[in-house]
Amino acid sequence: MIIECDDKVYNPLGGGSYVFEKDIANFLLKKFNKDNIVISIGAQPNSSPHFGTLIVFSTAFSLAKKMEDLQPTKNISVLFEVVDTAPSETIEIDGVKYQRSLKNTGRINNNFGDYTEILEYFKELTGVNYNIRFQSEFNKQKYIYPIVSEIIKQKDILAPILDPKYEKLRIRVACPKCGLADKNGIKTKFDGDNIISYCPEHGEFITNIKYESDKLEYNTPVRNLVRGVAYGMHNEDEDQDYQIMRITGSDYAGFYQEELLYKPASIIKFPIEKLPAILYTPLVLDWSGAKLSKSLYVKEGAYSDLPSYLINYKYMKNNFGIEGLDIINNITNEWIEKPYLLFRNYSIYYFKKEFEEYEKGNIYKHKTRVYKKD
Ligand SMILES: [Zn+2]
Repeated sequence: MIIECDDKVYNPLGGGSYVFEKDIANFLLKKFNKDNIVISIGAQPNSSPHFGTLIVFSTAFSLAKKMEDLQPTKNISVLFEVVDTAPSETIEIDGVKYQRSLKNTGRINNNFGDYTEILEYFKELTGVNYNIRFQSEFNKQKYIYPIVSEIIKQKDILAPILDPKYEKLRIRVACPKCGLADKNGIKTKFDGDNIISYCPEHGEFITNIKYESDKLEYNTPVRNLVRGVAYGMHNEDEDQDYQIMRITGSDYAGFYQEELLYKPASIIKFPIEKLPAILYTPLVLDWSGAKLSKSLYVKEGAYSDLPSYLINYKYMKNNFGIEGLDIINNITNEWIEKPYLLFRNYSIYYFKKEFEEYEKGNIYKHKTRVYKKD
C-alpha cells in the first residue's frame, strides 16, 4: 500500500494543546517553591535506547533549559531513574515464572554506556546537569517503608486493580543466593512488615520492608504508584532541598494513570493533589498509529520500510554520529517553546523527514540551533 500525503504538518488545537497552547514551562514552575528542581526520567536499559526513549530524555533537557532561561535563579537538573530490576531472563519452574533482573545477570552493562553517552551529550548541549539513581537507592528512601506498608495493608483492594490478570501484589525480592525472583508474585506471601519469598532452589527467605526496603522490586504499575507517592512525599518534605517532577511517554497518560495511580494513591490515603506533576511526551507512531516497537523490529523484522536509524540509538549514531541527537533536541526544544506541539503524537515519518532535511544540509528557519555539516 502506498500512502499519499500532502507533506504538510497541521496542529489543530484541542484538549491540552488548547489550554497550554503557548506555555507549559511557567505553568510547571509555579508548582515548585524550592530553588532546586529535578526532572525525573526512567528506562529499563535492556538494549540500546529506542527512539521513544531518546524523545523522553531530550524533552527533559529541553524543559529544564527552558525553565532555567525563565527563572535563572533556579537550578534545574535531570534525574535518570534506572530500572535495573527489570527482567533480563525468565524461566518457568513448576508452572511459576521466575526472573533474573538486569542487575543480577550483569546484562545492564551491555548497553548502559549508550545511556550515559546520551546524558553527557545533552548536558553539553543544554548546560543542564544530570544524576543517575538505581532502584536500590530509590528504595532506600525513608518514604518507601510507609508507602509499601500501606500498599500491603490494602492489598486485597489494590492487587486486582494493579494486576487485573493475576490479582497478585507484584512486589518481589530476588533470592539473595541465586537472584531468582517470583515474577508474578505467585508464591510470595505478605505478613505484616515481612515479605516471605520462595526460591525453587533455596527455599523460603524473609525480607523486612522497614529495614531492607532497598531489596524491593516492583512490576511497572506498582513501581509507578510507589514512585508517584514517594515523589509527592519528597516534595512536601521540609528537609529536602529539591522538588521533583516526572516526564514519561504518553502511553502512560489518561486511563492508565487515573486507574493505576490516582485512585490507588487515594486508596492508600495519600492526598492526590500532592502527587508530582507528570508531563507526557508525544508517542512515535508507525503508519497505522501504533507505538513503534523496538522488540517487534528485533524479533520479527517489523518496519522493513523504515531506515534503521529511526529504531534505536546505536543505528542512529552509526548513520548520523552522536550529532543526530541535535536533530531530536531541536524538535523537543520546539515542543517546549510551542507546547501545542506537545499535546499530540507524531508518526515516524515526521521524524524521518526532519532527518532527511538534516542530511540535505538544510537549515530550518524555526530551529534554535543551526546545523553545520562538515
Ligand atoms: Zn535461590
